[in-house]
Amino acid sequence: MRGTTDQLAARTRHLQPEGAYAVLAKANKLESEGKRIIHLEIGQPDFRTFPNISAAGIDAINRGETRYTPSAGIPALKKEIADYTGRRLNMDFTPDQVVVGPGAKPLLFFPMMALLEPGDEAIYPDPGFPSYRAIIETMGAEPVPIPLSEAKGFSFDMDELEKKVSRKTRLLIINSPSNPTGGTIPENDLERIAALAEEHDFWVLSDEIYTRLVYSDDPAYSIAAIPGMKERTIIMDGFSKTYAMTGWRLGYALMPDHLADKVGLLMTHSVGCTASFTQIAGVEALSGPQDQVETVREEYRRRRDLIVEGLNRIDGISCMMPQGAFYVFPNIKSFGMTSNKIAEHILTEGGVALLPGTSFGEHGEGYLRLCYATSPEEIREALAKIEDTLISIK
Ligand code: PMP
Repeated sequence: MRGTTDQLAARTRHLQPEGAYAVLAKANKLESEGKRIIHLEIGQPDFRTFPNISAAGIDAINRGETRYTPSAGIPALKKEIADYTGRRLNMDFTPDQVVVGPGAKPLLFFPMMALLEPGDEAIYPDPGFPSYRAIIETMGAEPVPIPLSEAKGFSFDMDELEKKVSRKTRLLIINSPSNPTGGTIPENDLERIAALAEEHDFWVLSDEIYTRLVYSDDPAYSIAAIPGMKERTIIMDGFSKTYAMTGWRLGYALMPDHLADKVGLLMTHSVGCTASFTQIAGVEALSGPQDQVETVREEYRRRRDLIVEGLNRIDGISCMMPQGAFYVFPNIKSFGMTSNKIAEHILTEGGVALLPGTSFGEHGEGYLRLCYATSPEEIREALAKIEDTLISIK
């Protein structure tokens, strides 16, 4: 019968809401009943978009720059992205290798649509950003999760990765620094991954959206910079996190020309193009002063130190010091309860919204994810509330 869910295309059957939105909805309901909630569930900067960037977007609207643009992005932005990424990685890129989209997410979706066939296998990190698995399944490909190992700073379990690579592997997704763990993949693991990619002839999709939020002195290293890898790597990046622009919707990816052509055509026939004034704001973000990014990064580093120290003081929790992004992923295995139950308890009893590690895959069991892109006062208050609620369940 038409109108029932089983009439919908099989490629949509597996789709689930993102955990963060489900928890946000619950938290909002509690707030509407008068309860005070501290929000540590959604991963977005609490800072406003930097004023020079907002002004560039507003000026563009006032000048009437409100029309369609080329599907893969305006030439000025593509050039700026090619130059910026070239400087960042000490590599050369041309504007033809850049595709701009409304947010970074379409630059996960469309390259995967261009590369994955039913029957192909795509490897992704678990715990990892939930859209990876959802998109792989939407393309009819087989999702192959590889656990991240806490003992290795939440890099891949490399032995497991080597076992799981097969003739069918078409794509491997990496994300460093990572959502949800804040971990980074060390250079020698990237070299092993690159060797596997060459040997088994698969593509690598490198999600580098947190690359400017690294707290060690060494800049994040990209797998694309390893000799031979540029031809088989898609570097996905965006403006949401670095420039506090989540609502503007602006992201991009760099990839070999032949793939960029196809991804550009997928943009033509889906979104059409990205908002013109948003792209003009993006040119200002990359070409304007960068000291604001550094100031915000220093502020996140202080908050990271505050939250990690506070979590480690709570009986039963152990929290690794993340190297990047704005998330912590504390281990709560000693409580002997599912992370879902603990997260729910902390929300309803303590008024702190955070996510169970299992929102990011089954290997997230035993962990919670907290986003610390919020004020130090709220972080301190949240820590006290988490401690109080956990004492009552020990
Ligand atoms: N990749 C990762 C790892 C992310 O955390 C996010 C945002 N939460 C994205 C991609 C998507 O970014 P955007 O909002 O620009 O689409």
